[in-house]
Amino acid sequence: MLRLIELFNSVQGEGSHAGLPCSFVRLATCNLRCVYCDTPYSFGDGEPQDVKSIVERVVAFGSRHVCVTGGEPMLQREGCIALMQGLIESGHTVLLETSGAVSLEGVPDEVVRIMDVKTPDGLGLSESSTKFTRIHFDYENLERLRSHDEVKFVLMGRRDYEWARSFVAEHRIAERVKHVLFSPSFHDLPARDLVSWILEDGLPVRLNLQTHKYIWGPDVQGV
Ligand code: SF4
Repeated sequence: MLRLIELFNSVQGEGSHAGLPCSFVRLATCNLRCVYCDTPYSFGDGEPQDVKSIVERVVAFGSRHVCVTGGEPMLQREGCIALMQGLIESGHTVLLETSGAVSLEGVPDEVVRIMDVKTPDGLGLSESSTKFTRIHFDYENLERLRSHDEVKFVLMGRRDYEWARSFVAEHRIAERVKHVLFSPSFHDLPARDLVSWILEDGLPVRLNLQTHKYIWGPDVQGV
């Protein structure tokens, strides 16, 4: 049994699958509290749903891609893994949106992990604080990345940019995954500033814009 917040069909708004028809399964609860969070309604308990009925509803939507997101979906490890397996078996390309702050052990190899690594300003914490080090990321997940995966950073400003740039270099992220995504926090960092920094530094990263916010507006739910 899973605790579900919402289930809808739309187009993928970000990452390398942006623009493709995609169903979304948003699971309940999150262990983090990002400053820019646009889905605080996912922090609640959600509605109990079994894996089979979720898979049937996704199949009925008819999209080839499905994104399992949250909240933090891997907090419901057992059910989430069963759901992803069921979606693979029903012929879907499965994307998993996760912060990587919870272990990804057991995620099926076929799943495309989109790991949204949390930055100090994104969590409203100092880089040197023990709380940031303790909660922001499970470093063992670096070894669980596959070459088809994506690693994303949502950046609040220049300080976050420099932190992410160091993280990418130190952990050889561009060598581990297919895409490294740098995303400006919608209300905090103008995209043009981020573009100029990426070009100045010649970084091997892709600018990532949340296109769903441009299509439907920044605060619309369930699209
Ligand atoms: S990890 Fe995602 S759902 Fe959780 S607080 Fe951060 S942005 Fe919100």
